[in-house]
Amino acid sequence: MTTSAQLFEQACRHIPGGVNSPVRAFKGLERPPVFIERAQGAYLFDVEGQRYIDYVGSWGPMITGHADPEVLGAVRERLDNGLSFGTPTAIETTMADLICEIIPSIELVRMVNSGTEATMSAIRLSRGYTGRDKIVKFEGNYHGHSDSLLVKAGSGALTHGEPSSPGVPAALAEHTVTLPYNDMEAVEECFAKIGDEIACIIVEPVAGNMNCIPPVPGFLEGLRRVCNEYGSVLIFDEVMTGFRVALGGAQSLYGVMPDLTCLGKIVGGGMPVGAFGGKREIMSQISPLGPVYQAGTLAGNPLAMAAGIALLSKIREPGFHQALAQRVETLCSGLQERADAAGVAMITQRVGGMFGVFFTAQSQVENFAQATACDADVFRRFFSAMLDQGVYLAPSAYEAGFMSSAHTPEDIQMTLDGAKAAFATLRES
Ligand code: PMP
Repeated sequence: MTTSAQLFEQACRHIPGGVNSPVRAFKGLERPPVFIERAQGAYLFDVEGQRYIDYVGSWGPMITGHADPEVLGAVRERLDNGLSFGTPTAIETTMADLICEIIPSIELVRMVNSGTEATMSAIRLSRGYTGRDKIVKFEGNYHGHSDSLLVKAGSGALTHGEPSSPGVPAALAEHTVTLPYNDMEAVEECFAKIGDEIACIIVEPVAGNMNCIPPVPGFLEGLRRVCNEYGSVLIFDEVMTGFRVALGGAQSLYGVMPDLTCLGKIVGGGMPVGAFGGKREIMSQISPLGPVYQAGTLAGNPLAMAAGIALLSKIREPGFHQALAQRVETLCSGLQERADAAGVAMITQRVGGMFGVFFTAQSQVENFAQATACDADVFRRFFSAMLDQGVYLAPSAYEAGFMSSAHTPEDIQMTLDGAKAAFATLRES
C-alpha cells in the first residue's frame, strides 16, 4: 500500500508544494496532506483505506454529498456525445434559465470555468460600465487570485501569510481600496472622499474565507445605499454562499439585491464552473453585445452544465435548505456544549449550510482583526485530533465548514463524539 506520506513526497518532485491549490497543503501542520482515493456521500476514503466524515465537500460544491448518483448519471448520459464542441449547446440555455429563475437579480448570465474568472470578469465589466478604475473590497474576503483582488485577501493567501501577493503590480493594487468587513462607517467615509472614482464594491455577503462571518445588520443594506448614491456597481461574490446559505443565496436570505452576482462551486456540481450575471443593462456591455471583452474556450462545457443542472434541480426541493441548516445547528450546538464542558474557549458561527469554529474568548467574530486574533495554534491541534478521530475539517482556521444533505444524524453524532475526545486532548497539552 502506498501511504499519503509517500504520495506527498512523490508529488513534491514536480508539483509546487505537492499540491495544485495551496489550501490543500497542510500548512503549519506537522503531517502530510491526506491523499483521497474516492468519496461517497458524507465520506472521504484515503489511499490507506481510512474513512473520514467530510466537512469540506470539495470546498463547497458537494452539497448533496460526494458522488451523488443523480449528478453522476447526468454526466454519464452526455459523455458519449463528446466532451466539448466550442459551439453553442442547448444545455447552456437550460443552465442560464435555471440560474435566472433561482436568482431573480440575474437577468443575463455568462458561464466561466472558475470562481476566479467570475469575479475577475465582473470587476472588468464594472470598470468598463462605469468608466472608473477604483474598486472596493473587504479585508479577509477572498475573490479568487486575479491581480486586482489579491490585496489583503483571505483563504489560502491568508493561511500562507501572503494576503497581498508579490507579483501584483503596485500600479494595479493602487486601484484596490480595502476596508474592514462589517464597518459601514469606513465605507461611508471612503465614498465621501472618492465615491465618484469607485467602479464597484465586491463583497462576500457572508464571509467564508476568514472562517465564517455573517454580515452585521445593516451592512449589506448600507453597501446597496452607497452604490446607489455614487453610481457604483454592487457585486455580491456568492461563489461560496450561492445555493448554500439559501437556495437564492445570501441576497435572498438578507433581501438585498446586488447589480452583479458571481457564482461557482455548487453551480458546477463539482465540475470546474463559475458564472457571473446581473442587470441586463450592465451585462449588455459584455462581448459580443458590448465592448467589454471576456471569453472562454471551454466555458459552458456540456458535461459541466449537466452536472450543475442536476445538482441545482435536486436542491430546489422544498425544505432542502431548512433541513441543511438544521443539521448545521445540531453540529454547532453540540460542539459548543462539548467545548464548554471541556473548558475550551470556543464559539461557532453559522449561516444556512455553512459554519465556522473559532477558538476565542470573544463572544462574536465580525471582522478580519477579530478572526486573526483567534488561537490558530489551538485550531491546528484540534484539526489534527479530529483527523485522528476520522473527521475531515478544512486544514486552516480561516476557512468555513460545509454541511451536506448526505450527513446523517449518526455522522453528526460521531463527529461530536470525536470532538469530545479532541477537546480533551487540547486540555491535556
Ligand atoms: N470567491 C469566493 C467567495 C471563493 O470562496 C472562492 C474560492 N474558494 C473564489 C471566489 C475563487 O473560486 P475558484 O477557486 O473557483 O477560482
